[in-house]
Parts: sequence; structure tokens; C-alpha cells
Amino acid sequence: MLQLKNLVNNVLQPALAEETLDVFEPATGRVYAQAPRSRAADVDQAVQAAQKAEFHWKGLSPEARSGHLYALADAIERRIPILAEAESKDTGKPLSLALSLDIPRAVQNVRFFAGAIQHESQQVHARTGFLNYTLQPPVGIGVCISPWNLPLYLLTWKIAPALAAGNCIIAKPSEVTPYTAHCLGELVIEAGFPPGVLNILHGLGDEVGVPLCGDARVKAISFTGSTRTGAQIAQQSAASFKKVSLEMGGKNAALVFADAYDATAPESYREQLMQILIKAAFLNQGQICLCASRILVERSIFDAFCADFVKRTQSLTLGDPLIEGIDQGAVVSLEHHAKIMLALERARQEGGVFHCGGHRVSVPGRCEKGYFIAPTVISALGPDTITNQEEIFGPVVTLQPFDTEDEAVMLANATRYGLAASVWTRDSGRVQRLSHQLEAGIIWVNTWMARDLRTPFGGVKDSGVGREGGWHALNFWCEPRNICIAEA
Ligand code: NAD
Repeated sequence: MLQLKNLVNNVLQPALAEETLDVFEPATGRVYAQAPRSRAADVDQAVQAAQKAEFHWKGLSPEARSGHLYALADAIERRIPILAEAESKDTGKPLSLALSLDIPRAVQNVRFFAGAIQHESQQVHARTGFLNYTLQPPVGIGVCISPWNLPLYLLTWKIAPALAAGNCIIAKPSEVTPYTAHCLGELVIEAGFPPGVLNILHGLGDEVGVPLCGDARVKAISFTGSTRTGAQIAQQSAASFKKVSLEMGGKNAALVFADAYDATAPESYREQLMQILIKAAFLNQGQICLCASRILVERSIFDAFCADFVKRTQSLTLGDPLIEGIDQGAVVSLEHHAKIMLALERARQEGGVFHCGGHRVSVPGRCEKGYFIAPTVISALGPDTITNQEEIFGPVVTLQPFDTEDEAVMLANATRYGLAASVWTRDSGRVQRLSHQLEAGIIWVNTWMARDLRTPFGGVKDSGVGREGGWHALNFWCEPRNICIAEA
């Protein structure tokens, strides 16, 4: 049995109480590893390690910190095939996806902030008699809490700006998918990081996340996960006035206008639209916060679009995620499988019409006991149904018709979430109007999940507080200090 370890002070170690949590392979339903079940004593030890490292790390030049991050990125890059296999095994996602998206993006995240910190500049405000300049010291000790859907991708997205800006970090990866975070611990040592700069604690939210968020020595928390947990973290950290960045749930709309799909649209445009929308709906078994789980379609093209979309959904191949050519793997856990099945049951009770999917799938052989769900397309549900209101975070999509642009906007905005939206149209005037009217932090036009790491990333309403990406992330991890000098 694989024994995963915490990283504290550059030592790979079990939890201090030597308790463990079972780690399951979603494709087979079998336990394949054990992860440390850390608690408050581990938090205390990790925070002490970070405190010891703080002075040295923030005192390094940006070039020196950058050098450490580049070394880490190189170490991750050298292990892409191994890490991709670990990620696929741990999450149930197709190996091809981990190879093409998750792990390469982890390399890119670390390299991006290694480069960015070398281009940081400070502000000067000069006026007669006074010179003001602003320093950007790091916040101090920070906590990065990440979810299970894109484990190494999101963990590196959070730690890289924090470390680049000079903070010492305790990372708390998801207990559901701890494998690549364990591997990252090994690579931190290999890359020659100073001890205590990055510490990684495995364990449950209640047992290790809560003490981390409540610790007075921790000055900032960067969290990605569910809206429910985000709300808890905001409460837990408020009493000690921590800086908090929260990336939370979504119920994203894709708005498909007639001019994007009718006979006036070029065949190549239509084909691209359908291919991208299928990905937007089902990539990673629909377990991406940015997934378009509500597709709004102009009524004149609704039936033709629906038939085409359902046919393409039915042609997705589902099976053992380690096999080449598989589009859909397993969902992440038995618990999450049950949650999605419950949502499907509720959609039935609400009167949804199921065009395909809606059931669990048994994959013969090695994956017989895996957590598989057929990609599902549902229509005939109004905007107020729970199915169209609550995040399902699985391979489940609803289709809703609209008659006018105003109605499309109303439907798109009709949830408490506001992470991302995508708009499919060839009308540039409409794009301008909608970009002002849609309540979302990210709006893609004629594309989806096209990421530029310099852009602000985050949501509005119950989807987020603050922005990640580029200078937004680096600024979060700094505490500006103004110096005002009078002319002598
Ligand atoms: P989750 O909220 O259950 O857990 C996320 C992390 O928080 C885990 O590491 C967990 O152990 C920890 N945690 C749980 N309770 C805690 C507490 N009280 N204090 C501190 N830490 C605690 O989320 P999940 O199920 O792992 O992930 C799925 C969710 O993440 C979905 O809602 C999805 O939309 C969201 N997500 C959002 C983004 C984004 O960028 N907005 C990206 C990916 C996933």
C-alpha cells in the first residue's frame, strides 16, 4: 500500500499522531494508498517551520526566489508522465487529460509566476516637497487550500504566486486526491527549496483546514472549493482579520444564439462550436468549476441543436481512464457519485426530459466497481428548478430555450453563482451588450476555457471573492507599504 506523506520543514513524514486516511482509486473503487490524517499538532509544527523560514525567504532577491520556482517547474516537467498517471489514478480522469492539461498546466503555473516576479515594479508618487514610494512586502505566512477536481493544477496555481511574492506557505490539498501533492513534496526537496518555505499537510477540512484558518500566525488564505466551505472559511478567518481570496462554485451558462448555428453560420464555425461546447459540458466528467452546465439556446434552433448535441454526447467513449481514447472516466468518489445520482433523481422529480444518460454505468473488468455516470442531457426544466439552480459538478447538462436577447441574459443571471459564461454569436454588437449585462467574472465569446494566465480569474456573487491570475494574485500575497519622505 502506497504511504503518502506530509512535507514539513523539507521532511516527508506521516501525521504526528500517525493516523491515516484511505485513498480510493475512483475507476476501481479500491483503496490504493493511505494519506496522513493531520490535526492541530501538525498545523502547529508546519506553522513553526514556516515562521523559521520566513525571514530568509522574503529576504531573497526576486531572482533567487524565481530560480527556486524555475527549478521546481523543471522537476515537475521531468515527471509529466508519472504525475499524469498518478493524477488519473487518484481522480478517475482520463490519463490523456492529465497528460495534456493538468500536469503541463502545473509546470506553466510555476514558470509563469517565476517569470512574473522578476518583472515586478513599485510605484512612486512624487509631488513638490514630498516623495512617496510603495514597497510590496509579502503578507507573511499563508495557507493555500485546494479541491480535488484539478489537484496539482490548482495547488500550483495557488502556491506559485504566494511563494514568488516571498511568503511561506502551508498547503492543504484535498483529502480526496492527495497523491500528486505528495509527489510535489518530493519535488520541492529535489528542487532544493529552503526548508519550511512550502509545507504540505494532508487531512480533513474539519481537522486540519479549520485549525489552519483559525491560526493567528497565518495572515492570508487562498481557497478554491465549494461555496459552502468558502463561507465557513470566511467566518473562521474573520476574527483574526486575515486576507482571504475565495474561488468557489459555479453554475455557468453558455448562450447559443441562432446566428451561431443556423444555415447562415459557416460549417467550420458550427463544427467548432459543437466540439467546444461538448468539452465545456463534459470535460473532466463535468467536474470543472468553469463547465457550462446550463446551455441556453435560441428557440428557432433549439430542436436541431438539441438533436446534434445529444448525438455527440452519446458518442463520447466512457471507460477505464488509463486506456487511450477514453473521453469520460470515473467521477471522483463514491460520495460524489451518490450526490450526482441524487441530483439526477431530483431532475426526474422536477419533470426533466432526459435525452441521454441519467444512469450509472458498469465498466466490465478492472473498473467493475468504479464510479461511472453516463453523460446526461436534460431539458424541459425552468430556471427556478433546483436542477438549474444548484451546482451538480458532474456530467450533467440542461438545455433551456429562449426567445430574445433579454430573456437569455435573464436566464443566464438567474442563479446565485457568477463564475463564468460563454456566448456563442457572430454579432459583435450583441457581444458588447452582453459583456455589460452578464453577471460573471469571466466571459468567453465563441470559445471556452481559453486561459491566459495574466488575466483576472474569479467569480462574482456566490462564486468568489477576489481575483487570481497575473498581478492580481501577486498583489493579494503582498501588503503594500507606503513610504513618504519630506524634502529636508
Ligand atoms: P470542498 O469545499 O469540499 O473542499 C475544498 C478544500 O477545502 C479541501 O481541501 C477540503 O479539505 C477543505 N476544507 C473543507 N472544509 C474546510 C474548512 N471548514 N476549513 C478549511 N478547509 C476546509 O470542495 P471540493 O468538493 O473539494 O471541490 C469542488 C468544489 O470546488 C466545487 O464547488 C467547484 O465549483 C469548486 N471549484 C471552484 C474553482 C474556482 O476556481 N472557482 C475551481 C475548482 C473547483
